[in-house]
Amino acid sequence: MRLTDKCNHRCAVCGQYGEDGYNRDDNELPTVRGNVSVERYKEMIDNLAHLKPHIYITGGEPFLYKGLVSFVTT
Ligand code: SF4
Repeated sequence: MRLTDKCNHRCAVCGQYGEDGYNRDDNELPTVRGNVSVERYKEMIDNLAHLKPHIYITGGEPFLYKGLVSFVTT
């Protein structure tokens, strides 16, 4: 689950912020038209729970998603 595209790192090989990354020339963090709410992510997990999926969290930098702690602790 890509919780956010925001990232405060600039890894050279990154597809988003690296030398050829699609957010490379954006001096601000990427234009974000809104964030998916924690409640919506939880709803998605609930809907998939019967499949017992393995879920990994990525970004961007997931710690820049304000709801991260709430999301992973409930
Ligand atoms: S998204 Fe990952 S790879 Fe890209 S700059 Fe951030 S930490 Fe580095």
